[in-house]
Parts: sequence; structure tokens; C-alpha cells
Amino acid sequence: MKSENIKIHKILDEAYESANALVGTGQMPDFIPALEDIDPKRISISLTDMSGNTYCAGNYDGKFSIQSISKIILLELAIREVGEETVFSKIGVEPSGTGFNSLFRLELLEKKPANPFINPGAMVSASCIKGRSLEEKYEKFRNLAGELLGNPDISYSKEVCHCEMTTGHRNRALASLLIANGIYDGDPEEYLELYYRGCAFYASTSEVSRFGAILANDGIKPGTETRLLPKHHCELFRSLMATCGMYDSTGKYAVEVGIPAKSGSGGGIIAAARGKAGLAVYSPELDGRGNSVCGMQALKYISEHLNLRTY
Ligand code: GLU
Repeated sequence: MKSENIKIHKILDEAYESANALVGTGQMPDFIPALEDIDPKRISISLTDMSGNTYCAGNYDGKFSIQSISKIILLELAIREVGEETVFSKIGVEPSGTGFNSLFRLELLEKKPANPFINPGAMVSASCIKGRSLEEKYEKFRNLAGELLGNPDISYSKEVCHCEMTTGHRNRALASLLIANGIYDGDPEEYLELYYRGCAFYASTSEVSRFGAILANDGIKPGTETRLLPKHHCELFRSLMATCGMYDSTGKYAVEVGIPAKSGSGGGIIAAARGKAGLAVYSPELDGRGNSVCGMQALKYISEHLNLRTY
């Protein structure tokens, strides 16, 4: 094994140890009851380099609900469907300064969602997908997710989706408020379900880190010559990840880790260090801002020790 590979394995193992020391200090995601009973000790860490090699560490190699990580994929699909200009006439590109399911800004400040990575922003992305039925729209979403995550058989958890459809009252209010604000028309229940199905996609950190590596490699799948995303979209996504990706800890994360990332409330985080690596971490306990406690620690350790900071 080459010395570079040995070094990456060693750093990932050390990152796992430093993250593992924080198990028990966060809270399980109680706003999605279907995710409450997961073993809080699960930690999974993956890194994909620019040659397409994937390295893993941790005590869990299963799949997890990717939640908000899916918002990147939904945004890509929305842009493909109606074009960037139309999408960003309905969604801003600024940090919201409020929670991901807050109604505050839409009611009192401006009619359109602040950015595509908060829930109403993702609902607007969902409203841009064309199709005769929810199933037809979902199939487009699933195909793109399968391509970017390298798993054509990807599927969503009906249990998690159903749970969110029945308990996500704030999201339902947001979906309706966007109609009242004149941002979209049509069936808000359908947009909500399309959005929730994406949140309920299940993937492993290896799959998510390969997607991160595509973003880091300006759209070319590492180790191949296949372009999966336009370079400009990767620049857009990384910029949004850097400014809006980590809920209300985006500034703290930027200071401590310095790699564009998108966090999901299921405990997963994707990160893309341009020209260097894609990363994914998963551990279900969250801090008060909704980010994985152990996941953040692992990213901090890896960024520092493999010199992955990009800003
Ligand atoms: N499904 C979650 C919700 O809509 C996603 C939130 C997130 O991961 O940011 O509340």
C-alpha cells in the first residue's frame, strides 16, 4: 500500500477516535420520530480522493437517511428542469439566519426563501420538477440521486417519509405560505412529498463521499472522464454549502473546518474540498444547531490533519 494511502487510513482512524470521545454529548433527532431509535454510538467516516479511491473508518457501514443532503440533488434537478435564472428568481442565495423550518422570514421579511438549503427553498426546487404525476417527478429525482451517489437502486424509506408527512406541521405551513406569497402554484402536498422522499433516501457514507468528490472535482466523476455535473453548478453548490450549508453554525464550521459542506438533520454531512477530496460523515446525535456532533469533530480532525481547508 502506498504511503499516502496509509496516511489517509491512519488519519481517518484517528478522526474516528476523536469523534467517538463525544458520543453521548448530543441529542437524537427527536423531530423525526422514525429516526429516534437509532443506535447513538454509530459513527461512519468516508473520504474519496481525486483518483476515485474511497477510504472508510468507523464502526458503522450501513445506510442512513440523508435528509437535507438531498437538497443539493433537488436543486440540480430544478436547474435542469427550468434553468438557473427561473430557479433563482424564486429562491435567494443568502444565509437565512433562522432555523431550517422557520416561517419568520417568509411571513415578515421577503416572499421568497432565503436560499435553496432551507426547507422552503427545497420545496420551491421541488415545485420546479415537471411531470404528469408525483411518481414521474420522483423517478427523475431518484435517477439523478442514483447517478450522483453511484447507486442506481437507491430508494427512500416509506416509514421516514410517512412519519414526516404526518408530523411535519411547520413544513406543511411553509409549503402553503409559498403559494400565498405567489412563489409557486399547484399542489403543495405534492411538493412536500417529493421533498420528503428525497430526505428519506438512504445512502452510505462511501456513496455520499463519492458524490462529494464529484462536487470537489468540478463535476467529473473522480477516476473517470465522465462529467456528471456542469463545472459552474459545482461552483454554485460549493458556494452555497460554504455560506448556508451548516444551519446556524455555518460561521463556526467555516472557522473550524473550512471545507464547503451540507449537513442533514439525520446526522449526515457531505463535504467537498475542491481539487482534493469528497468527504462524508454520519453519526446521529446532533448539537443544538442540528449538526452531527461526532461528524463535525471528525471533519475538523481530518481537515486539519490532511490539510483540506479550502477557505
Ligand atoms: N426532513 C427534515 C425536515 O424537513 C429535513 C431537515 C434537514 O435535514 O435540514 O424537517
